[in-house]
Amino acid sequence: MPRPPLAGALALACALVSVYVPAIASAADATPDYALDCGQVFDSRSGKLIGPRTIVVRAGKVAEVLSGRTEPVANATRIDLSGQTCTPGWTDLHVHLSDQSSPKSYEEEFRLDQVDFALRGVAFARRTLMAGFTSVRDLGGTPALHIRDAVNQGLIPGPRIWAAGTAIATTGGHADPTNGYNATLSHLVGPPGPTEGVINSVDEARQAVRQRYKDGSDVIKITATGGVLSYARSGDAPQFTVDEIRSVVETAKDYGYRVAAHAHGAEGMKRAVLAGVTSIEHGTYMNDEIMALMKQKGTWYVPTITAGRFVAEKAKIDGYFPDVIRPKAARIGALIQDTAAKAYKAGVKIAFGTDMGVGPHGENAREFGYMVDAGIPASYALQSATFYAAQVLGVDDQGVIEPGKRADIVAVPGDPLADITVTQRVNFVMKGGKVFKNDTDTN
Ligand SMILES: [Zn+2]
Repeated sequence: MPRPPLAGALALACALVSVYVPAIASAADATPDYALDCGQVFDSRSGKLIGPRTIVVRAGKVAEVLSGRTEPVANATRIDLSGQTCTPGWTDLHVHLSDQSSPKSYEEEFRLDQVDFALRGVAFARRTLMAGFTSVRDLGGTPALHIRDAVNQGLIPGPRIWAAGTAIATTGGHADPTNGYNATLSHLVGPPGPTEGVINSVDEARQAVRQRYKDGSDVIKITATGGVLSYARSGDAPQFTVDEIRSVVETAKDYGYRVAAHAHGAEGMKRAVLAGVTSIEHGTYMNDEIMALMKQKGTWYVPTITAGRFVAEKAKIDGYFPDVIRPKAARIGALIQDTAAKAYKAGVKIAFGTDMGVGPHGENAREFGYMVDAGIPASYALQSATFYAAQVLGVDDQGVIEPGKRADIVAVPGDPLADITVTQRVNFVMKGGKVFKNDTDTN
């Protein structure tokens, strides 16, 4: 019997809804129960391997950690990781998901749209996750705010993202988005303000943080000194007054934000530490006085050795960087690994970060090797990307494999404490109880 047209239209609409909505929901909610049989487990609290364990995962969380191989576990899919070491999923505290440095980078700022950067970021987020990094802190770039949301909705694979959005600088400072513009462009665009991430007073500092809140940022990033890759002469000059940084930090507290400070030069770094930032990024010219201050105030150091080595290497190539940048890259980049070595010896708290977006996304685990080369024990390097990284983020539900914590788990072939380079051969990745990668031989 023919139906009246309206009922037919409704039926069609319902059919569309019933097909479309569950497809989205299942991508986000598909977290079956698992029992992971791990040959070894890295305890990120103690920094030790604790032997074979069966990790039971339910509803996206670690439900139990059982001694030895325990099988079968009722209603759970068993995954054989008996030849592997399981560690908590890693966190890279310094990435730029929508960037990738190349000789074309400076031209692309004028030719590409934000959506182009965002689409790149989709690919880079996936690479990052597949490399074992289940969480990242993105320290600059608006696409990351939206990539974060798409990941959280289950639309694209990627790490859990704490995004700074637009970084906060001063006029001409590292992260002034109009650095290097010619006079015509500068005139057309006009001087950037707090909305665009440029402040020049205590009041504007406050406004910029409040704008980040409005934008949906998770963390605040400031550029306390010059930077290597900005189109400007100095890589280390202080670029904020201590009162401006204090204003950022105090306003950030109102919104539950932590502040990450990019800093190469000693004076700007000292001001940032005194003003109470959570972490110093790069820290190239960190001296004894600053190290003592950081220990006293509990400030974290995120070295990003990978980026330092990358830019120092590229500075040798004619034409890779604009002329104004090349000497900075050669000079500053080469120093960071030594600074990390000194800071570790001095007892400064070190957390893991690469500044990927400078170097290639997906090779984040190289930093582990560079840390070990700098004299940092492999166990500490792994803790810096797990237990300590969670402290820098200010969360207590990840970074350890314990009941009730998020089931973010990666597995590497062999013993990472004996050979840290196995971290570059991740073959199992679980985030929030969902398996994103499993290249192990399952039986
Ligand atoms: Zn950076």
